Amino acid sequence: MTTPTALVWFRRDLRVADQPTFLAAGQGSRALALFVLDRRLLAPSGAARLWFLYGCLRDLDRSLGGRLLVVEGDPTEVVPQVAHQVGADDVHVAADFGPYGRLRDRGVEQALAEQGRSLVRTGSPYAVAPGRVRTADGGRYRVFTPFRQAWADHGWRPPASTDADHLDWIDPASVAVEAVPVPAPPAVTADLPEPGEAAARERWQQFLGAQLDGYATGRNRPDQPGTSRMSVYLKYGCVHPRTLLADLADSTSEGAQAFRTELAWRDFYADVLDQRPDSARRNYDRAYDALATDSGPEAHRLFAAWREGRTGFPVVDAGMRQLRAEGWMHNRVRMITASFLVKDLHLPWWWGARHFMRLLVDGDLASNQHGWQWVAGTGTDAAPFFRVFNPVLQGERFDPQGDYVRTYVPELADVAGAAVHKPWALPGGPPAGYPSPVVDHKHERAVALDRYEAVREVR
Ligand code: FAD
Repeated sequence: MTTPTALVWFRRDLRVADQPTFLAAGQGSRALALFVLDRRLLAPSGAARLWFLYGCLRDLDRSLGGRLLVVEGDPTEVVPQVAHQVGADDVHVAADFGPYGRLRDRGVEQALAEQGRSLVRTGSPYAVAPGRVRTADGGRYRVFTPFRQAWADHGWRPPASTDADHLDWIDPASVAVEAVPVPAPPAVTADLPEPGEAAARERWQQFLGAQLDGYATGRNRPDQPGTSRMSVYLKYGCVHPRTLLADLADSTSEGAQAFRTELAWRDFYADVLDQRPDSARRNYDRAYDALATDSGPEAHRLFAAWREGRTGFPVVDAGMRQLRAEGWMHNRVRMITASFLVKDLHLPWWWGARHFMRLLVDGDLASNQHGWQWVAGTGTDAAPFFRVFNPVLQGERFDPQGDYVRTYVPELADVAGAAVHKPWALPGGPPAGYPSPVVDHKHERAVALDRYEAVREVR
């Protein structure tokens, strides 16, 4: 009798701990570990994300004793090919709910079915998979607060108890398919976090020890290391959110509550994108298709100033430069810079979202596009349209000593204290090399409110 063989196809779950696909494959089964370099997914990823992804793949390969098979191509062709070569009845994956991933998986499932094989989906990258949290009448949530409550009531499974030895890994060299090495990491200038599962665990332990207690308030301070920096590890599944939630299960502290709420936002946006895949590219609230936005050479000049962190508004510029320097930006500053693009520069939110997706190492379609739409007021749970972040007040409130700005804007390094948020008001104006404000915030705020009001009137 031949031992059943499974194919475990890794995608956004690059870890061996808490890995439900291993459970589904059956303890001790012979299994081949596969990752597919799919150009359609890799092409839009910026260098930072590729660098991190390739680092995670190397880490996973090490954990599996060098037994990760990496192939290149269209998954609808290569996954059935590999399954055939290795004689796997089932291909195990964590379900993907993104617009592309869902379609791709349907294609793979169909191709496998033609060979008499199955695609088995177990688990997802979320604590609660999209579609599971339902209103009393079985509908889907469009507002975060009731979703969060229902999400907590629904609950999640405990972490799966798995490790690399759970399955009997097949040597990829014994499989007659064209394997490729994990690509060399692209050159990056950004200072990126250590990829991989052990690095994720280490970061999490540091956060639990040093930051969780102060997280409820500290999370809003870009000048302090108050947040977990777990987003990139969650993005690539170096750790599952359920593992983090299990570690917090016994805590009712403010920090733990606040952290659970942030993970609920992550699940909420995945759920919303699952409900409305078109909202990755267009306004969730289609009434805002009528919102006037700017275009033309002046708009492009302002867009370039924003991208380069040369708007003359220090907290905006610090954020945009942090994004380049680290492939990451603090959440508070993501909101400030996004608001500036949409409400001070009157540019379409998707221009900014695309730039973020190119540079963010944690770039995630659901969280990014819906984070942008929250700020633009075009999404679910939209910030009230009349909320226009004042970049000076935001800077003074959340970076009270100006340390965040001075870290990323060297032209302002010699300006002491909170005065750094208004360099145009310094005696002699902004220091040499630092621009004057590209717009008048008060005026642009009024323009934005008029434009939003015009949409409301025609609703
Ligand atoms: P922490 O404060 O430690 O939060 C813990 C975890 O909760 C995060 O790792 C993340 O998984 C989740 N989380 C926190 N805030 C949010 C939120 N508002 N929405 C969804 N999940 C959240 N997050 C991404 O992971 N990828 C993105 O591409 C992304 N783009 C964004 C764009 C904009 C315009 C805005 C306003 C927010 C965006 N966010 C995105 C959400 C948030 O800014 C980041 O998750 C957070 O800054 C990551 O840092 P952290 O891990 O230290 O966060």
